[in-house]
Amino acid sequence: MADDDDVPQGVIVCVRLRPMFVKRPDGTPGREATCQRVVEMEGKAEKGVGCAVTKIYDPNDMSAEPRSYAFDRSWWSCDGSKDDPERPGFRIPDGPDSKYVDQDMVWQDVGEIVMKNALKGYNCTVFAYGQSGCGKSYSVVGDSPNWGIIPRTVKALFDVVDGNTDPDVRYNVEIAMVEVYMDEVYDLLEPRKKERQKLNVFNNKGEVFIYDPKDRKNMDKIWRACSNHDKAESFRKMGDANRSIRATGMNPESSRGHTLFILRFRKEVKRGGWVEEFRSKLCLVDLAGSERAHDTGLTGVGLEEGIAINQSLSALGQCLVQLCKGERVNHPDKLTKLLSESLGGNAVTVMIAALSPADINYNDTVSTLRFADNAKKMPVKVKKQLDPTAELIRQLQEENAKLQAQLQSMGSEEIEKERRDWEDKLAAADKKVQDSQKALEDMKANAESNSRVRMVRAKTGIVDEALTVDELEAKVKELEDLKNNSDSKLEELNIEISKLQARIQELGGPEEAEKEQDELVDLMRHKTSNQAHNAALQEQQKDTLAMLMEARLGEIERLQDARDAVRLEALKVKKDGGTDTQAQEECLAKLEEQLVLARNDCESMSEKAVEVGMGKIFRAAILALHRQDEDSKVQYLQDQLSILQASADQDAAQVRRLEEEGAAALAEAQKAAEEAKEAAEFALQEKMEHVQASSQR
Ligand code: ADP
Ligand code: MG
Repeated sequence: MADDDDVPQGVIVCVRLRPMFVKRPDGTPGREATCQRVVEMEGKAEKGVGCAVTKIYDPNDMSAEPRSYAFDRSWWSCDGSKDDPERPGFRIPDGPDSKYVDQDMVWQDVGEIVMKNALKGYNCTVFAYGQSGCGKSYSVVGDSPNWGIIPRTVKALFDVVDGNTDPDVRYNVEIAMVEVYMDEVYDLLEPRKKERQKLNVFNNKGEVFIYDPKDRKNMDKIWRACSNHDKAESFRKMGDANRSIRATGMNPESSRGHTLFILRFRKEVKRGGWVEEFRSKLCLVDLAGSERAHDTGLTGVGLEEGIAINQSLSALGQCLVQLCKGERVNHPDKLTKLLSESLGGNAVTVMIAALSPADINYNDTVSTLRFADNAKKMPVKVKKQLDPTAELIRQLQEENAKLQAQLQSMGSEEIEKERRDWEDKLAAADKKVQDSQKALEDMKANAESNSRVRMVRAKTGIVDEALTVDELEAKVKELEDLKNNSDSKLEELNIEISKLQARIQELGGPEEAEKEQDELVDLMRHKTSNQAHNAALQEQQKDTLAMLMEARLGEIERLQDARDAVRLEALKVKKDGGTDTQAQEECLAKLEEQLVLARNDCESMSEKAVEVGMGKIFRAAILALHRQDEDSKVQYLQDQLSILQASADQDAAQVRRLEEEGAAALAEAQKAAEEAKEAAEFALQEKMEHVQASSQR
């Protein structure tokens, strides 16, 4: 498609240098009043605005050769600015020689890329990365009058939508705004409550779904329809007010969570007899910044937030590295999962790395530059988001038009034949459309369960389609060992932490024991990651066990099926007047033997199932199989009986024996049925409790 040729294939990496904090608003010296600048930008960017090269000097040796990076854009917003006389408070370059890049210029550059491609039907993502207080929110959100990318995108999109006068073009815009806070996802467009509802995230075939687990029927719950700009703005402001922020030593309004502002829009264009339709998503992300406990001065919840932020950012960095190497990426946390649509490479992606010019931030700035450099290497293949049914119809319509043109140039007999062929083709095509629609619906319905199965496989590291019971059993054992190991490590960490806490108290509190406090932070970080690891292991254990149970139950079922088939064979021999069923009897005995073993295996698994809270469900499944077994036995005996009764040479004794056996089996079957029913009820209860517990969490 010619259209695809000018779609940027690769992340567009921009870096932006903020001003030095030399003065506070009240005029007193700022945090960086005595710092020297270690970042320089030079040349002219090949495309867009700004410089071509970013250089960073080592503050310990300013005369040494600097590290140099050629990103797509280097935006200098460090100095050389003044207030715009026409717009009080709006910063613009202070003269023709100034390198200063203001908010209008950033928008001209990024806005053009984003709007152009989004309106053509490509997903677009813009995300800002960098140390806390370096200007991520300033670029992405901004404030009056220096508005950033999000409010300007909303405005630009509605300029297009509201300004549309073409009756053949229709737009539909929806907004969602979510926050990832301590590795949980929350809807920012819900009125903020003390207990916020956690949302689930899953990626199905490259598309990310965010939904309320308590309201699975309404998978579009987070999306708010927006008919005009005012409505969109009021949603944006509401979401902004609901974000988790906290004053830290680095930023008085530090974002404590990552914010995703997503615009989803559909464009329908009537083209002759068919409608071209596509949906694209514009995802604008204001990440929380990396931070050091030492600089933020936070303790308690604030400190834990910082640890969660750093953890999710390093997971994101890890993801980028894996993508660059072409490795399989399993998204370890909510942030990378949410961004997987863009990180998967199917979005026009712009990254803005926010930099501090100050020498005190040298190490963090170097690591931000390294992250940006990795992002540059990420492979991207952007696809147009066409509606598959609409695309199919378009192809068929094209074919239709071609056929009609052919008809014009044919004789009457030929036409008749061609017409019939053509009708057949159309009927087949109709069916194709219907099938594809059906498949689409099925796909949507199955999306969640499919993704769960894949998730289990990814989490357990098992990718083969068919797994043997032995392999699963080995995995259960391995996970058990890992979990035990991890438990004892956690125990050790807890002991270390209490010791250190006592020691800090002894020394007179955190101020007096700086080294110990740093060590404590380290240990707490370890503990958090260990706890997460532990929880992940437990989940894996549960998932693997569930798979093993399924495999074991499947084994019993297969054996029972095989046994029933042999029983039928034996009955057939007898019905045909034969008496020699020795081969069948032997086979039956062997199968029964194997069944006993398989059932014992299942029984011994029951305890483990109880441990992971699936005891009742498993028990119910075993009893249901038992019931099936008893029913089959009754049937077998009754069939034998009727064959015997029908035959001329009745053996009264044998009939009686079978009658007795039949009655006993029937009683047993009734008992099994009752037990199975009761167990099923309990299992249902267990499931309900589980659902309730997880929704309260
Ligand atoms: P972050 O979101 O990275 O933590 P912010 O965007 O909140 O950082 O920026 C921290 C402070 O620096 C804010 O007061 C912001 O106004 C200021 N700032 C950041 N970038 C710029 C810039 N390019 N020009 C002027 N001020 C800036
Ligand atoms: Mg911020």
